[in-house]
Amino acid sequence: MCKHILNVQASIRAPCCKQWFDCAECHAEVSDHPLRKTTEMVFGCKKCKKVFRKDMSNFEEEDEYCPHCDNKFIVEAKTPQMAIAVEGHDERMGERFEKDLRLKEDNVKSVFDPNADLSHLLG
Ligand SMILES: [Zn+2]
Ligand SMILES: [Zn+2]
Ligand SMILES: [Zn+2]
Repeated sequence: MCKHILNVQASIRAPCCKQWFDCAECHAEVSDHPLRKTTEMVFGCKKCKKVFRKDMSNFEEEDEYCPHCDNKFIVEAKTPQMAIAVEGHDERMGERFEKDLRLKEDNVKSVFDPNADLSHLLG
């Protein structure tokens, strides 16, 4: 079980150091080198414990399933950070959201304020 992606369904075999990891973050934590990108990824299904390869340059919807047991191993990653964001504690998200709200309010004012000069809108 990986602490970055809580619902990880398959391990990946790092092409650089030939070690198994649950996610790229796990690799980064224990490695002194970046995870090498490759078009042919080696996965290990967590459900049936079998290994299979996928061509990432030609990845289609049916490739999201383990070829051995049909376990869907490409899932929307559940991360601890996402769990926090849902509860509204992500500072960055909050700021951006407030900015959006302000922008909207400004637009509303300029259209509905009776004192606003709308002559340019009326032609
Ligand atoms: Zn590596
Ligand atoms: Zn991880
Ligand atoms: Zn499987």
